Amino acid sequence: MADKRKLGSGEKKFRDRSQNYKSSRNVHSNIKRKRVLTEEEKRILMRRRARRKRQAEQKKARIIFALALVFCLFVVFQVFAMAFRFIEKSRKAQKEESVTVVESSVESSPAESTEESTEEESPSEGETNAEGMVFSGGRYIDPSKPMVALTFDDGPDVQVDGVLMDELEKVNGRATFFVVGQRVEKFPEDIKNTVERGHEIGNHSYDHDIHLSSKGQDYIRNEFDKTDDAVEKAAGVRPALVRLPGGNISNDVKAVVKKPLIFWSIDTEDWRSRDAVKTQNSILSQVKDGDIVLMHALYLSTAQACKTVIPELHARGYQLVTVSELIHFRGQNVQGGNGVQYKNFPPIETAAAESSTASSVSETVKETSVQSSLQSVKESSKSSETKKETKSTKTASKSTESKSNTEATKESGNIVENPGIATESKTAEKSTKESAGNIAGAIDAEDPQ
Ligand SMILES: [Zn+2]
Repeated sequence: MADKRKLGSGEKKFRDRSQNYKSSRNVHSNIKRKRVLTEEEKRILMRRRARRKRQAEQKKARIIFALALVFCLFVVFQVFAMAFRFIEKSRKAQKEESVTVVESSVESSPAESTEESTEEESPSEGETNAEGMVFSGGRYIDPSKPMVALTFDDGPDVQVDGVLMDELEKVNGRATFFVVGQRVEKFPEDIKNTVERGHEIGNHSYDHDIHLSSKGQDYIRNEFDKTDDAVEKAAGVRPALVRLPGGNISNDVKAVVKKPLIFWSIDTEDWRSRDAVKTQNSILSQVKDGDIVLMHALYLSTAQACKTVIPELHARGYQLVTVSELIHFRGQNVQGGNGVQYKNFPPIETAAAESSTASSVSETVKETSVQSSLQSVKESSKSSETKKETKSTKTASKSTESKSNTEATKESGNIVENPGIATESKTAEKSTKESAGNIAGAIDAEDPQ
């Protein structure tokens, strides 16, 4: 406003005019421009605009299409992933089903599984099935049923061992081979084969020196260590058990050998008779639950006898087990050997066990094993007396051997070497005399060669 007041009238007029001119010129130019556009130009313009619009729309459509495509791909990927997961799941489920089907079929047919367990995918050692049978050595063992351990000394002998193992396999039986170290070195393949077929290898010294027990601790140690080494080299296992040559024990043996010393309750005297019928009769006439049978893997007559004995024992319901299995299933504690020679491992309970359940049997086994180990310590002092007596009555006992054979084995559960004696003590005195005769006979009977 201050400026306006200062302006002269001429100036004002000029300014107004120029302003008027400007505005009129603007109007003019607009009219002029509008007028310049021809119809064609308008069409071009319109077309151009339309094209731009179309392009914009196309661009929009393309973006939408791209987004839609990405979305579709994502959906398809998800669907595939889900389908894959579903297939995997169903496959797993099928596998599990088939496993349970196999398991249930094994459970539903225990007899069959016992026969064929070596062929199938085997359960782990010591596994118990629904029937309470324990998987051991490639087949199932019923701990509540009778079992016998056949033992074969002085081998290996390729020919005899082969026959024995073939016969044993027919009834899913296993045996213990007490081998001589120097023979192991000659026939390592036979030892390997025996172990692979599920049998047990015991240590029967290196040279089979029947006077070994009186030759000092170093000599004794060397005899058993060398044999352990030979067996390990041949088959990759070290024997868990020892059988003394001739069954001859001494304080030096007790001091050196810290493995269970295994004696026998049935002496077939197969080395003496070399007669298949005599050998088989000596077993079948007196065999009972828990017996350890002494034979020799050197004679074809023994192999021949076993062709009858093995199926017959199976038919009578005896499971043919290794000595270690017998010890295990009878719940015996023989760790460190205890310095005694174990004759047999009869069932701890007889009448009571039959009526009681499996679990209560195992309880009694535990109890009595503790009891019996105490008892065996107590009676080990008695054993030396018994052996002295044995020597003096050796000839007498020999003459009555055949007669007292059945009686002696009936009472053999009471012998000091037997850890399961605690429950039967009523006829201790009588049986000690009788079975002492049995031991003496057996020691003499062991093949000295
Ligand atoms: Zn021998």
